[in-house]
Amino acid sequence: MDKIILPADAAFIIDELRKNGFEGHIVGGCVRDSIMGIKPHDYDITTSAKPEEVKNIFPHTFDTGIQHGTVTVVINKENYEVTTFRIDGEYEDCRHPKEVNFTRDIHEDLLRRDFTMNAIAYNPYDGYTDIFGGIEDIGRKIIRGVGDPDERFKEDALRILRAFRFSAQLGFEIEPETKKAMENNVGLIKNISSERIREELTKLLISKHTEKLPLLWQTGLLENISQRLADSISGREDIIQKEIAQSEKTVPVLFAILTQFIKPDEIKKELSFYKFDNKTLNQIICLNSLVNQKAQSDEISVRRLANKTGIENAFLFYSLKKAQGDNEAESAENVLNMVIKRGDCLFVKDLALSGKDLICIGLKPGKEMGLVLNSLLDMVINDPKLNTREILIKTVKENFIDNI
Ligand code: ATP
Ligand code: MG
Repeated sequence: MDKIILPADAAFIIDELRKNGFEGHIVGGCVRDSIMGIKPHDYDITTSAKPEEVKNIFPHTFDTGIQHGTVTVVINKENYEVTTFRIDGEYEDCRHPKEVNFTRDIHEDLLRRDFTMNAIAYNPYDGYTDIFGGIEDIGRKIIRGVGDPDERFKEDALRILRAFRFSAQLGFEIEPETKKAMENNVGLIKNISSERIREELTKLLISKHTEKLPLLWQTGLLENISQRLADSISGREDIIQKEIAQSEKTVPVLFAILTQFIKPDEIKKELSFYKFDNKTLNQIICLNSLVNQKAQSDEISVRRLANKTGIENAFLFYSLKKAQGDNEAESAENVLNMVIKRGDCLFVKDLALSGKDLICIGLKPGKEMGLVLNSLLDMVINDPKLNTREILIKTVKENFIDNI
């Protein structure tokens, strides 16, 4: 296996640790990705130095998860997580070890890791430390649990979700014994926090290898996340898979596709489980309410939709419709871009007259004024040329002010 060219900062951290008598290796996702020729998104470093020792070596550090041995080292404004070799104690709640003990032996640290492909360490001095055949598994595109997979999934059920999403991200097969152990323990997913489920599910849905999506429903994973969602998809799996594959893969659109068969009166309940931020939650609810509508690309319909949902949601709606193969969605999206560029009036605030103007011509502030503004808006959404101060004032005078 070729050497890994380390980024200068990661190499510097490993060198400094070494100068101080400690071992340092890059480990986990960055090694896996480098072997696969994928540029790592970050570099995790594992070391024989204890957290206090790491903090003594580097001038800029902050505590990240000190009880788990992680210190963040800041080099050239970049953060590197440096974690002490550790042995995880007994696990509780199917997720967290009761205690962790530090060790000076890299082999012991690799034992606690989830999959062989994630349990490879590397540094320029020792080369690869690969005690479970991770390099070979990467070459064969296989996800294999470290040690007894059944035990490992029972310790921490999040690993089950991680295996699914790695399979979809990397296009790897799950080794049969590991897969069997996942299926046997899939019920333990119920112990995992909804935030972590949402994160992993999101990564899985965004993944390139959508041919792996059926793992979600074939393995009982989905029904253990949400029976309601699993029931709603049952018999329509192919539609979901196809639309996700064709989608632009933004979070609201992906979840709108996944939850599209859940009825509007149940959607809030379903989505509350995942603990989305409010904006994303409202976007998915909005898309769910529109999921049975087709895109209409005439200018008036486009302006009406943008007015009703807001511009951002209108774009999401067209994105959803494109994923669903609605052949008018793309032109509707183009029209929306054009309408925005031209500066068409879409909201009351865009009207070429203000509440003050209305007061000047004799209207009283309050409900009536709101009605007048909305009716003017309706008029200019139908015909943007009418959005001039003169025309709007004339319209108000003619239609809303009795004795002028
Ligand atoms: P990604 O590319 O998604 O960051 P990653 O493999 O780096 O993938 P991280 O969550 O960043 O995943 O974890 C870093 C490493 O820590 C993993 O490669 C693995 O060795 C170990 N690890 C993470 N989560 C677990 C877990 N639940 N059980 C065992 N080992 C884990
Ligand atoms: Mg990582």
